[in-house]
Formats: sequence, structure tokens, C-alpha cells
Amino acid sequence: MLKILVINAGSSSLKYQFIDIEKKEVLAKGICERIGIEGSKISQKADGKPEYELVKDMKDHSDAIKMVIDALTSKEYGVISSMNEIDAVGHRVLHGGKYYSASTIVTDDVKKVIRDCFDLGPLHNPANLTGIEACEKAMPGTPQVAVFDTAFGQSMDKKVYTYAIPYEYYEKYAIRRYGFHGISHNFVANRALEVIGLDKEKGKVIVCHLGNGSSISASIGGKCVDTSMGLTPLEGLVMGTRSGDVDPAVVQYIANKENKTVDEVLNILNKKSGVLGISKVSSDFRDLEDAAENGNEMAKLALDMFIYRVVKYIGAYAAAMNGVDAIVFTAGIGENTVIIRDAVAKSLTYLGVELDEKINSERRKDERCISTPNSKVKVWVIPTNEELMIAEDTARLVK
Ligand code: AMP
Repeated sequence: MLKILVINAGSSSLKYQFIDIEKKEVLAKGICERIGIEGSKISQKADGKPEYELVKDMKDHSDAIKMVIDALTSKEYGVISSMNEIDAVGHRVLHGGKYYSASTIVTDDVKKVIRDCFDLGPLHNPANLTGIEACEKAMPGTPQVAVFDTAFGQSMDKKVYTYAIPYEYYEKYAIRRYGFHGISHNFVANRALEVIGLDKEKGKVIVCHLGNGSSISASIGGKCVDTSMGLTPLEGLVMGTRSGDVDPAVVQYIANKENKTVDEVLNILNKKSGVLGISKVSSDFRDLEDAAENGNEMAKLALDMFIYRVVKYIGAYAAAMNGVDAIVFTAGIGENTVIIRDAVAKSLTYLGVELDEKINSERRKDERCISTPNSKVKVWVIPTNEELMIAEDTARLVK
């Protein structure tokens, strides 16, 4: 029976889940927060055990991993008696550059690639590597696996991932489209082939991962054909705080008019734009829905812009694949926000999409078909589960 520890390390946080892979069951999950900052704490919820919380200094990720092991092996709050019961560790790693199109067992070469990609994922890759090294130190001999968020996008064709800028920038600096949320798109696209019963080689699926960050992918037989995020997660859909696609000249224009640097303008495009920048209400769709219902015109505009961009990308991806068998919604908004799915689906009648409005409006957490039996293109909601995907990849590689 394989038990996998899944680690998602951020710069000052470390989220984890301990998963029994055969039962597909989460035995415990938790988070270390404020690593390296005063007031660090760990909290954990384990199967059948009281919730655990401990405020204790963690000067780095090594300290955090030690506390995770202590929490998992705690008699009162934990689920295992010793760390020998951790069979392998799966790490979410943001960027594998052009080098990894699949998950891989961590070796010195793999760590070098993660380090070489620091420039491409400056906020995440250093933290991901620190998480790996901390686990190697705390659990010598336990296999570690890197699961890359960019791996799914590696099957894109050269004409899709190449930007039409002087080619030497690709050669010198690896500037190209990579795509993100790959672990989620991969999980949901392949799950869709299975539950909908589509052809495993030819099934054409569009996955709308709509959350705080949003992206959309087109895949054939579970292999990515196109995806909306680019060199960074800024490209593509309108998001909570990110602009998505804009004319790059906007950057220069704002910089000149507002006397700002390129870095400052990019910060605005990443953190102060999207539905937040338009509405000034919130980046959270629950707040936006409330505001729009209460007559806030700018909240309504933000929602309309979000929907329009999703509809436009679905049209583009249906064209890129010369057809589509299924459209799948996932992540916080995709799984929960009825009005977004409703508006998107109703704009796709030209594709033969017919929404079952009643099923769509039900508040449920399960995988479900929300189109009518007559709908030419099937529309589904499939909850994403990145941790399970990481655990499954890890188990497959270490078996
Ligand atoms: P994510 O980044 O996947 O966690 O998604 C976060 C977004 O999902 C936020 O904009 C939330 O407003 C939206 N959302 C809508 N309904 C819910 C819900 N019931 N639970 C969680 N997130 C929700």
C-alpha cells in the first residue's frame, strides 16, 4: 500500500497532503505558513483526529518539513507511527522549461534544470527546489518526484508555442509559450476522456480552469494542443487580478503617461487588473456576483468581459482542433459559479451545445454532465485535483 506525501512549496508557505494512493484517500492535509517570518505556524487536519495547530518558529523549509513529519507522526494528531511509512514524496514544481514533458524522479540533473529555470519561475522554482532539498535531508533514501506545472504544455506544436518575435530571443532566452495550470488541465482532460467515454486517442476536449488564475486548454487524446497562458501566467483569459491578453504597447503607454517602470506596469497587469481592476469591487467572483445583482454596473461589465474572453477562446480552440467533443469546467469558478457556466454555454449554441439549465443550477461537488442528452458537444463539470494527480504520478514512477 503506497502512501505519498505531496508537497506544494511557496516562498513562505508549504502546503501538503498525505495520500493513500490505492484508496485515493487524503489521510491528512495541512499548511506551514510564514516560513522565515515571525509567527510561523503549522496547521493540519487528519482523518479522524482533532485539528492540530502549532505556532513555532520555522526559519526555513527544512524546519517546516521537520514539523510536517512531527505532525504526521504525532500520536494524538497524526496518521502514521514513523516517517518510514512515507513511501515517496511528490513535489509540485512550477517550471521545467523545455526539458520536462512528464513527471520525473528527482536526481542531481533534475535539480539543475529546476535551478536553471529560476529566471522563468522566479517566485516558485526557488521555493520548489528548497522544498525538495529539505525533504532529501529529512528523509534520506525516500524517493522524490518532481511534477511540473509546465509539462502538459510541452506537447504544443512549434507553430503554437513560438512567439512571432525575432527568433534569436527563443534561441538565446527560451522565450516561448509554456502554459501553466498544466497539472490541473492534464488531470481534468484525461478524466474527461474516461468519464465521458471519449476516444482515448482522438477525443477533443476543451478544459476551462476558471479560478483566481484562469486558463483554458485544448487537447486531443489527453495531449495539449494549445493553452492560453504563455511565457508567464499573464497571457490569455481575464482573471481575478491579471489582465490576460493586452496589446503589449499598453505597457509602454502606461509607463510613459504615469511615469512608471516596466516592472511597475507589469505589477499592475498582474496584481491590479482583471475583474478587480475593472470593478474595483473584488477579485472574488462571489463578491462580484453580489455586486452585479445589486446593480453595480462595473461588476457586471467585469463579469461580461470575463465570459466574453472564455467564449472567444473556446471558439478559437474548437477551430484549432477542427471540432470539439467536450467542454469541461473546473476550479473555484468553473466548479461553483452557475451564472458563468450558463452564460458561456448559451453562447455556444452554434457548436451544438445545449445546456441542461436545471442540472447546471444545482449546487453539487461531484463530477457531472450539465448538457442535455441531445447536446452535440458534451459539457461537464469535473472538480480538479492537482494533489491526487501529483500523488498518482509519483506512485507510478516509484513502483
Ligand atoms: P480557485 O483559485 O480555484 O480557488 O478559485 C477561486 C475563485 O472561485 C474565487 O473567485 C471564488 O469567488 C470562486 N468561487 C465561487 N464559488 C465558490 C465556492 N463555493 N467555493 C470556493 N470558491 C468559489
